Amino acid sequence: MTAPGGAPEPLPPTAPAAAAAAARPARKVIPIAAAPADSGALYEAHKKVYPRSVQGLFARWRWAMVFLTQLVFYGLPWLEWGQRQSVLFDLGARRFYIFGLVLYPQDLIYLTGLLVISALALFLFTAVAGRLWCGYTCPQTVYTEIFLWVEHRIEGNRIARIRLDEGAFSMEKLVKKSFKHIVWLGIALWTGFTFVGYFTPIRDLGMAFLQTQMGSWEVFWVFFYGFATYGNAGFMREQVCKYMCPYARFQGAMFDRDTLIVSYDEQRGEPRGVRARGSDARAQGLGDCIDCTLCVQVCPTDIDIRQGLQYECIGCGLCIDACDTVMDRMALPRGLIRYATQNSMAGRWSPRQVLRRVLRPRVLAYSGVMVLLTVGLLVSLVVRTPLKVDVVRDRGALARIAEGGQLENVYRLQIMNATEQTQHYRIAAHGLAGVSVSPEEPVEVAPAESRGVAVRLQIPYGSAPAGSHTVYFDVRSADGSAQVSEKAAFLVPR
Ligand code: SF4
Ligand code: SF4
Repeated sequence: MTAPGGAPEPLPPTAPAAAAAAARPARKVIPIAAAPADSGALYEAHKKVYPRSVQGLFARWRWAMVFLTQLVFYGLPWLEWGQRQSVLFDLGARRFYIFGLVLYPQDLIYLTGLLVISALALFLFTAVAGRLWCGYTCPQTVYTEIFLWVEHRIEGNRIARIRLDEGAFSMEKLVKKSFKHIVWLGIALWTGFTFVGYFTPIRDLGMAFLQTQMGSWEVFWVFFYGFATYGNAGFMREQVCKYMCPYARFQGAMFDRDTLIVSYDEQRGEPRGVRARGSDARAQGLGDCIDCTLCVQVCPTDIDIRQGLQYECIGCGLCIDACDTVMDRMALPRGLIRYATQNSMAGRWSPRQVLRRVLRPRVLAYSGVMVLLTVGLLVSLVVRTPLKVDVVRDRGALARIAEGGQLENVYRLQIMNATEQTQHYRIAAHGLAGVSVSPEEPVEVAPAESRGVAVRLQIPYGSAPAGSHTVYFDVRSADGSAQVSEKAAFLVPR
């Protein structure tokens, strides 16, 4: 975690790093079967993680993504498009507004397509560069980063936070903790409010909130989503990634030996050990790792990347920043920890060789399918008819003989205008000899509205044999910009 624009926590002096490293208990995983018999515990007790601040390329990327994702999330519902909210999923009216698009539940295929493309994108990015999503854009990562920043600003750096938590109760502790939780709750509730603002017009929601007139479901979801944010980002943090997120468990299936992952260069770093600055490490039989444990201290999931790839690693790259800082101080080349593939580590490949392996069959297959689906989705959106019609036969009104000796069936047409303008639709029919439609006048439907219309179909008596016959309703906008044909059954009694 790095405060944007803030100074990183000072590095410890190189030699005393040994003491710091020694003081820090080595991370060990106790298998259940090997747990001490008298401990009475089946699971390792949770230890709170106090990530140290760090600055560097990947920390800056993380903050850039925090700003970008939150700008979009908090800003989008306030953006106007014409006379309404630019993005609104109006569940009550069963309309989804996405800028100029008006989607009805019948357009669910587009949402399905979008989800499939998102899943393919996740597969693709994971195959190429591991857990990019987790490290930079996952809401759990982003909100944990924001909450940690608040904690850092109020309670101080890593050491100060540990001391505050371990210290006895004091007025300072009470004030700092209370203030932190108030700020956390403010962010969490604003997040919940914004989330609900995607499903109900956010300006109306704000007014209702101020006048304490929010509907019960809105209150519930604002507090539900708010407390989920507060709990996950304030308390659960890395435990969500470790124990709750399914992606962490199946990501291994998407990795291969050419996937870029955060890796420790064991050949270069080992044997690790403390040395005086400027001393000849090779003469002492040491590798480049000075065992300062900074890479562990900055890790938001509290793992030691020097033990190899672990499912807890979210690929945030903060250990790379920390180690590069140490390498700079030791006047050693950067990259002891770096993004690398297993093949490149084993074969000491150059960056050019690594890049060449990016375009491998798995990546090409994901990319090809993704491009095809994206193009297909865009084309179908562009050519889509902004009119939907549902036909329901009026089961209460049986076929009957109408005035003038015509045989009549009655239907209900639901006409959905998916444009932002008022439309007038003419209804016609074909499929049976002499079929006529009533009413003949155009039907007016307001922008993005749906209207139910009772429609009578008539044919000359005796012009069709008894039974069920297929007819088609042709609904066309007055300006000819949209036309839809819908099938229906016309019943001729014996
Ligand atoms: S890998 Fe780098 S940051 Fe980690 S202990 Fe070794 S020198 Fe320190
Ligand atoms: S080990 Fe993984 S999760 Fe930990 S700091 Fe490094 S990249 Fe991030």
